[in-house]
Amino acid sequence: MGEEEKMRVLEVLDSGELAPGDWTRQFEDSFAEYLGMKHAVATSSGTAALQAAVESVGLVRGDKVFTTPFTFISTVSVLVACGLVPVFVDIDGETYNLDPEKLAEAMEEHPEAKGVMVVHLYGLPADVNTIAELAEKRGMLVIEDCAQAHGARVKDRHVGTFGKAGAFSFYGSKNITTGEGGMVVTDDDLLAEKVRMFINHGQRERYHYEVLGYNFRMSNVNAAIGLEQVKKLDFINRKRRENAAYFNRHIDNPLVLLPKEPEGYYHVYHQYTVRVMGDRNRFVQHLVNNGIGCGIYYPSCLTEQPIFQRTGYIDTGTDIAREAARQVVSLPVYPGLGLEELERIVLAVNSYRE
Ligand SMILES: *Cc1c(COP(=O)(O)O)cnc(C)c1O
Repeated sequence: MGEEEKMRVLEVLDSGELAPGDWTRQFEDSFAEYLGMKHAVATSSGTAALQAAVESVGLVRGDKVFTTPFTFISTVSVLVACGLVPVFVDIDGETYNLDPEKLAEAMEEHPEAKGVMVVHLYGLPADVNTIAELAEKRGMLVIEDCAQAHGARVKDRHVGTFGKAGAFSFYGSKNITTGEGGMVVTDDDLLAEKVRMFINHGQRERYHYEVLGYNFRMSNVNAAIGLEQVKKLDFINRKRRENAAYFNRHIDNPLVLLPKEPEGYYHVYHQYTVRVMGDRNRFVQHLVNNGIGCGIYYPSCLTEQPIFQRTGYIDTGTDIAREAARQVVSLPVYPGLGLEELERIVLAVNSYRE
């Protein structure tokens, strides 16, 4: 956080208007403008944004929705919350995102499905052009989980603009943050209005409740931080990409496979995730011994989670995802890393032996 965010928060505190208000609206407008979209609705979290989107796009209880098993819980828990049935489709082992060929096969098998929840994992856009085309052919809708991919693009097109709605998170660890927070984006006027009602107790007019809704709003305090963070997003992403480029140039260890960025894709490296051959625990321990923190996103597939055994799902194959879950390790890539730290990380990775 810089002086800019601090000043903005003080502005809100001095105004006495801490509840959602002018700053929230300004943050929404600036985020919509950044993406070149008509509507943005700020929410209390990324999960709330996902749920508001899923609840408002017109799916009905029992509808099947394709999604990836290799993601954070919220991508799928919001489907279950809306009474939908997740249909898991395997990932591509190089991009860690939904494999469009497998999705096409799954669509053949389940032509009655109504939508696709696509995730842009680690900040790398999924093959969302192909996925949107497949979905459109079958009259299915697409929702994008962009929680890790603010500013990521395919050619010149931002993630969040390909589907009927996109959901972002501003949790503390994301590329830009408001502490907790989220945003739904869409070009659809009616959908935007439904989302706005859903996150505000189902009311359009005060004390007139048209549908079931919740308090999933974002306060002026959080929005004030977001307002300044959006301005820094491109800079932050460039720094992350520079750090990733440094690793790509210098990491050289046959046991460590580097992340891929397909031609024409703009990866924003929410995570810099490598694949480790052999014993992953030993690799992690080696990094820890060298004073380097790392993370595992995610250690298992969602098909293995007890919750979904109870609520039900369809599994069209998760071999690649399960293998990835056993092998991935994410290295530090945050914008504040200095050259010395980058060198230290490279040295530690390159000196790892089985
Ligand atoms: C962080 C995240 C979410 C949830 O966002 P919260 O703001 O933590 O609720 C959803 N999906 C993915 C892929 C995420 O990384």
